[in-house]
Amino acid sequence: MTTRRFMNFLEVPRGLRIGEIILKPQSRTVVVVPLGIYISVPFCRTKCSFCNFASDVFSRSAFNGYVKQVATEIALAEQIAQCLGGTFERGVDSIYLGGGTPSVLASEQLKALFRAVQDNFDVAAAAETTVECAPGTLTDPILQVLLEGKVNRVSLGVQSFVDKECSSVGRLHTREITLSDIARLRAAGIGNISIDLIAGLPHQTAESWDFSLSETLASGVPHVSVYMLEVDEDSRLGNELLAGGSRYHAHYVPDEDLTADLYLAACEKLERGGVYQYEISNFARAVTHGIGLRDSGHNLKYWTRQPYLGFGVDAHSMLRASGDLAAQGIQAIRIATPDTLEGYSSAAMQLQPGNARVAQLLASRTLVDAQSALEEEFFLGLRLNRGVSLVEIAARHGAERVGQCDAAISELINAGLLQRENNRLRLTPRGRLLSNEVFGRFIKDRHDEAGGRYTTATPDSSNINHR
Ligand code: SF4
Repeated sequence: MTTRRFMNFLEVPRGLRIGEIILKPQSRTVVVVPLGIYISVPFCRTKCSFCNFASDVFSRSAFNGYVKQVATEIALAEQIAQCLGGTFERGVDSIYLGGGTPSVLASEQLKALFRAVQDNFDVAAAAETTVECAPGTLTDPILQVLLEGKVNRVSLGVQSFVDKECSSVGRLHTREITLSDIARLRAAGIGNISIDLIAGLPHQTAESWDFSLSETLASGVPHVSVYMLEVDEDSRLGNELLAGGSRYHAHYVPDEDLTADLYLAACEKLERGGVYQYEISNFARAVTHGIGLRDSGHNLKYWTRQPYLGFGVDAHSMLRASGDLAAQGIQAIRIATPDTLEGYSSAAMQLQPGNARVAQLLASRTLVDAQSALEEEFFLGLRLNRGVSLVEIAARHGAERVGQCDAAISELINAGLLQRENNRLRLTPRGRLLSNEVFGRFIKDRHDEAGGRYTTATPDSSNINHR
């Protein structure tokens, strides 16, 4: 956890290079924390049977209107942030287009989204700009727009290098298409490529999974995300697994134990191949010998509680609290937009400069008080293999408040889910498999602004797509 976030955030002259630290007279330290920007594109070519995201197959006629609405939302970002009591920062050092499949947009539409960000934010020259692409959607015009939009990282939703496994969940690509896309991206100068894999797909076996991992390593990509198939009623496959049936190949889905074994096999095999785990689901190659990883700078913002702004359907934001909220001890605000295209569009239609209700129309807000901030430190920081420092957390939140977690920590250590070394707390390999149980021990039930009960949602995955 960086300590930058806990320094004073004072007024900063415009035009300052982001990330720069200035020492002012009287030794007051001013730190500018650049934002991460996430843009959700909820359109896909087909709906994968395992997918429980707010994305779907829509007519292309919907694309233009949506892009315009997102561009309006981006232009009103400062007004929306202020209206909700968040600290707005114009400097940006990471941009992430996800969804959905951003590469299904027409090149002009993609260009309009990049332009909206460039026109309304100060984007650092070295900003990490990532676009999620489904293999087979990288047409020449799209590739050209990626280059013009200074995209320097592409996340490919591969899921498997076994064609039968891909087709069984509704994916349209093959191994050959994936390898060809990787080659085309490299030839175009985008070598920072991430591959998503899913453990637990129908027809998957230990052997076929080993083949996908071997292909991943052989491809030489610097970043890999490995997710375990989520079984819940929000996807067609998950629903079939719970309710029975064979339409979506549920009867060919490996059981939970095998899926867990596949995940552990991935951790071992990728590490042997020089791709190191740095987060529960994320692995990266070393940049140079043992120094630094080609990790996802954008996603690290989520896990280290850096501020970010999300735009579009089902997009999440986290900003530091400002003004009255900050004075009341609120540390941050978390914002979420409607999770359906219909809900988002009907709210976004009313967005206009000067509309005082602009933010309430679009977003629901959760206030992060001191207790929630402490909980987030644990359940976000513990996602990372480096874990959390109890000394640093105590310095930020007070030893007494952190001491209230002692019983939970001891219990989790005794259960073999956490390990403690030099006051640093980390998940064990078993703890990574049961991470939701670990995180649940750090979270208290409470009530939101509308009086509804909630348990702090794990915002780690708010804008991170598991596909
Ligand atoms: S998994 Fe990805 S590509 Fe498939 S439907 Fe979901 S968002 Fe679209």
